[in-house]
Amino acid sequence: MILRIRTLGDPVLREPARPVTEFGPSLRSLFDDMVETMVAAPGVGLAGPQVGISSRLFVFDDGETGPMFMANPELSDGVGELLEDEGCLSIPGPYHATPRFARIRCRGLDLDGNPFEMLGEGLLARIFQHETDHLDGMLYVDRLDDEGRRDVMAQLRRIEMGIAEPRATPED
Ligand code: ZN
Repeated sequence: MILRIRTLGDPVLREPARPVTEFGPSLRSLFDDMVETMVAAPGVGLAGPQVGISSRLFVFDDGETGPMFMANPELSDGVGELLEDEGCLSIPGPYHATPRFARIRCRGLDLDGNPFEMLGEGLLARIFQHETDHLDGMLYVDRLDDEGRRDVMAQLRRIEMGIAEPRATPED
């Protein structure tokens, strides 16, 4: 089932999400729905709050990992910096160069509640940071300076007014 993606202005995007404590069939069904929603969007990552669920979980697929699930992520060992265009399904359309660690470790729990960790580089590192931000009530525009934020909002207005087409690049 495709879920409704919450967009900028929805308060759930600004709430710190609660840790996941129950692992079972309903979580697996949520995973299936979130992956279906992410693929349809299309996007490379989708966090709980983006579908109105204030839980510390996200799904992702950087094109190499296949669809994956991560609950209660903890980021560590961030190194380097990459400044690349970033977008968000909750701010549909605009992109802006956003600084992120080039490589980062993400530890969390899988669908069965078992701990695992992944080392992300490039796009995968960006996804881990973008999605974990969502769980803290943060959006990528919060990582930009005033000029960057104004540019994103101007792009958004142009798209909403039909003056510009959203770019067809996958969003996080
Ligand atoms: Zn996002």
